[in-house]
Amino acid sequence: MIEAACHCGAVKLTAPDAPKAVTECNCSICRRLAARWAYYKPSEVGLPKPGSTQPYVWGDRMLAFHRCRTCGVTTHWQSLDGAQDRMAINARLMDGVDWPAMRIRKFDGADTWTYLDE
Ligand SMILES: [Zn+2]
Repeated sequence: MIEAACHCGAVKLTAPDAPKAVTECNCSICRRLAARWAYYKPSEVGLPKPGSTQPYVWGDRMLAFHRCRTCGVTTHWQSLDGAQDRMAINARLMDGVDWPAMRIRKFDGADTWTYLDE
């Protein structure tokens, strides 16, 4: 079990395992957030208290990006239409990650929608 917590501690998520790799994406929102995403099945994630986050939804309304209502830290995103059986937690919020040893995958969400390391 690993926990991700925002800065003030109002928002906490839990996942069964620490990520073995994280994704950095260059799309319009991810490059602004500078998040490093760890993917999980929604059914295996412990979500924060309802109302503790503020969702940000735009464009084709596929995803909701959540941030803490108090400290503003971006915590996770979730699929809105249920088409994706995955969600992402911002791994920067997890304590104890060995960042120099972590595999960081570059996803080209801005253009080709593929991983640049494949
Ligand atoms: Zn907070």
